[in-house]
Amino acid sequence: MIKVVILGGGYGGIYALRQLVKNHNIKITLVDKNTFHNLQPEVYDLIANKSNIADVTIDLTTLCYGLKHDYLEFKNTRAEDIHFDKQTVYTSEKESIAYDYLIIATGSRTRFPKNLKNLK
Ligand SMILES: Cc1cc2nc3c(=O)[nH]c(=O)nc-3n(C[C@H](O)[C@H](O)[C@H](O)COP(=O)(O)OP(=O)(O)OC[C@H]3O[C@@H](n4cnc5c(N)ncnc54)[C@H](O)[C@@H]3O)c2cc1C
Repeated sequence: MIKVVILGGGYGGIYALRQLVKNHNIKITLVDKNTFHNLQPEVYDLIANKSNIADVTIDLTTLCYGLKHDYLEFKNTRAEDIHFDKQTVYTSEKESIAYDYLIIATGSRTRFPKNLKNLK
């Protein structure tokens, strides 16, 4: 059975997951360092105290369970290293996860160039 590993349960990872679960003959492993998907566009309401944390998060275990796929598992762990030659992801728990296909959807960080003062 083909093994697909998705790193990151953000918008990118979940979109890929929702497409992949249409195929019931693949094994899918979703990996995220958090237990939840963060609804980023809803965060403004949270900051403005118009909603609570439950309104801006979706539990990834529950989300995966609801997709009703026999070979889908969620691992709440941090991906620390990838050996592309061995097609293996290594986690913070020193677990190795082998894959045939790897989707890296771990998001991005904003870079604040030092020459643009006060940008941050
Ligand atoms: C406050 C705010 C409001 C926004 N509003 C909008 C909007 O209205 N419309 C819009 O289009 N965009 C909006 N955006 C931008 C949008 O949220 C991002 O473009 C989008 O979240 C990027 O999705 P992503 O899947 O690439 O990454 P992310 O959503 O950042 O997801 C990355 C996931 O990977 C996980 N991860 C990271 N590193 C590891 C690791 N080493 N091991 C395991 N897991 C890992 C993280 O925990 C996270 O769950 C907003 C962003 C913010 C911050």
